[in-house]
Amino acid sequence: MGGGVVGVTTAYELQRDGHEVVLVEKNAAVALETSWGNAGMIAPGHSFVWSSPKAPMILLKSLIMKDQALRFRPSADPRLWSWSMRFLAECTEEKARVNTLRKHRLATYSQQILHETLAAEPLDYDRNTRGVLYFHRDQAALERGVAHMQILADDGQRIEVLDRAGVLALEPSLASAGDKIAGGIYCPTDETGDCNKFTSGLAAICRERGVQFRTSEEITAIEAAGDEVLGVRTRKESLKADLYVLALGCQSPILARSLGESLPIYPIKGYSLTIPVGNHQAAPTIGSVDESNLVAISRFGDRVRVTATAEFAGYDTSHEPGDFSFMKGVAQDLYPDGADYDRAEMWAGLRPMTPTNLPIFGRKKHRNLWYNTGHGHIGWTMSHGSARITADLIAGRTPALPMDGLAA
Ligand SMILES: Cc1cc2nc3c(=O)[nH]c(=O)nc-3n(C[C@H](O)[C@H](O)[C@H](O)COP(=O)(O)OP(=O)(O)OC[C@H]3O[C@@H](n4cnc5c(N)ncnc54)[C@H](O)[C@@H]3O)c2cc1C
Repeated sequence: MGGGVVGVTTAYELQRDGHEVVLVEKNAAVALETSWGNAGMIAPGHSFVWSSPKAPMILLKSLIMKDQALRFRPSADPRLWSWSMRFLAECTEEKARVNTLRKHRLATYSQQILHETLAAEPLDYDRNTRGVLYFHRDQAALERGVAHMQILADDGQRIEVLDRAGVLALEPSLASAGDKIAGGIYCPTDETGDCNKFTSGLAAICRERGVQFRTSEEITAIEAAGDEVLGVRTRKESLKADLYVLALGCQSPILARSLGESLPIYPIKGYSLTIPVGNHQAAPTIGSVDESNLVAISRFGDRVRVTATAEFAGYDTSHEPGDFSFMKGVAQDLYPDGADYDRAEMWAGLRPMTPTNLPIFGRKKHRNLWYNTGHGHIGWTMSHGSARITADLIAGRTPALPMDGLAA
């Protein structure tokens, strides 16, 4: 259930294991929701959980100050309040450390599985393996960033600390904004690529191998009796299978609720711009994150992707030009001759966030229903490993990664 990057990678792994797979997706094609417009970073170096000791103050500030990278809009939605309470409970120093390490291990493992897939399959998705640069605009923030990064470095993440000259040597396209940058942390093993292209390409490979894609079929209910799921009802028909995998991104808790299950997933909205490079000479050449403004910039072939903002807006994916002015201004300031900014395509999508920022795997009360959902802000990064883990669990194999803190 679900044809985002999580559903499609899961279908791929299950097909490899010899299952007959049917994937049900409400849109006309795969990866048209959150997996369409993300920043494209495969970024174990970006594994820090959002539920950190700093988060409560950031949330509070966002209530009174406008134009924050984080926008918390209180609403009457009881699910927002129960999710927020659980999120705040994760914001201790110790829980943030444990959750970050679990996430880093899953992200690193997932990148390894991605590399296995790429060695086996011809996939073209504007991949860029030059690393990702996390840069800061002032020295004190850079030093705090370096100290903060140590937790990932101690866990095996390769990092290089760069001063301004080092940043400009790595990314000469930042030259005109050089005086605004103090330095950065470079993760040479992080990478970028277009998640929609990857997912569509992998889906085509799955289709050739016999996976059935039932697109334009919206699931309206999951039918169950006792501890068994009996079928999935769509607007067109009822589908029956031996086992079911729920990978519906932000819609997962809504369908799970019809089974009496409560999944702690809440949508957190983000925005992106996709901008043609055109004839512009000084386009970004590697993925980067402006840590002072929380804006991420990636280069996908002849396009630049700029993303920002974490907003609590329920399931609303609407957007207007004003939502993009800040991120566009940051990109233009950094790369004035980097792209055709006037031709930017606007998009907004919903991150399926759990309070721990870790996905949900395994089974709950139904013996033939498996969960692979809640991948939050680095779900493209974690999808490949999550799919392999799900296939392992279904096959009764022990996953290569310790599952503590990850099981449903
Ligand atoms: C602005 C932004 C930037 C991001 N940047 C990054 C990044 O740089 N790196 C990274 O790793 N991650 C990033 N992410 C996160 C990443 O995009 C998500 O975690 C990931 O795409 C989630 O994939 P998914 O398959 O779970 O969800 P989705 O892609 O949303 O897929 C769920 C699918 O289920 C389908 N569906 C839902 N309901 C039904 C139904 N009733 N019947 C049938 N089908 C249904 C939907 O149509 C959809 O196709 C970013 C996210 C955002 C918003």
